Amino acid sequence: MWLQYGVDKDGTLVCIENIARGKTTLKCPYCSSHLIAKKGKLKEHHFAHHGETCLPVKSRQFPVIPLYESFNIHLSGKDLEQLQLLWKEYGLKNYPISSGLVSHNLLKAEVLKKNVQIVPFGYEFTDLGKIPVQALDLMRFNEVQEPLLLKKLLKLELAVDHATHRNTLDLSHRFTDLILYRTQLKRILSSTLYFLQIQTNQGTLHKIGVTQRSVEERVIEVERDLLKHYQNVTIQILGSWQHRGNVEKYFKHRYQEFNYPIGSLTEYYKFNSKYANHVLSDLQNMRPKVLSSIELDILADHTSLG
Ligand SMILES: [Zn+2]
Repeated sequence: MWLQYGVDKDGTLVCIENIARGKTTLKCPYCSSHLIAKKGKLKEHHFAHHGETCLPVKSRQFPVIPLYESFNIHLSGKDLEQLQLLWKEYGLKNYPISSGLVSHNLLKAEVLKKNVQIVPFGYEFTDLGKIPVQALDLMRFNEVQEPLLLKKLLKLELAVDHATHRNTLDLSHRFTDLILYRTQLKRILSSTLYFLQIQTNQGTLHKIGVTQRSVEERVIEVERDLLKHYQNVTIQILGSWQHRGNVEKYFKHRYQEFNYPIGSLTEYYKFNSKYANHVLSDLQNMRPKVLSSIELDILADHTSLG
């Protein structure tokens, strides 16, 4: 992942999406260099250093949210290919996988597990293993991802505690890691996921998205965007889910094959009407998000890097 946050003069982290492209007054959270907002069409939007890139950013060793941007669970290309093949041949049909087909790497990554109820025993996909192959439903995706988010938060907090205790040189680096991570969590927790059905003069489309404002406000912009491409546009809000910003990118991964780009607009989908109902129930099966005390604390967070 690329650097997506810069620090303003008050020490607050600002996301690339909330800033115009080009020179900024923001600084790198790690080395305080001036940042330039790169918002082109090809690469993911990110901040670049005005001068030389510092090591934490260059080596991309700053913390990112687990299962948020990338869904390959750190599998190598070869392992991923094997997993996809196993899904097509066995997982999809619910057939047990014989041990001869299961590599050590896949077991270590916990994407497959032994099922002793089958004799002779075989292997099956874990919920985690269904994520790279786009097969895990949205509700269970939340159940897999949420504990990982908290586990990583605890790890980063511990690293700060250790560094504080021993007064080590990397204390400021560890502290930046923690603030950067909490800021990313705050962003997804304060986002509302929405799903729209759009009737145009050329057929029906769907759109997934997140907003930190009201969905109605966002719909006005969506309509304006679409009227550049269609003569008639009627938008219906099929659903909105508070605090579920974590799901948007997994949704895009899961329903990739139905993606329908319109010019530079990329969050549109073309489903047939039967499948659209399936997608809607996938979303509706997610229980309303109940915030834990840690999450409430993160949402109320005003910690700065001053
Ligand atoms: Zn830097």
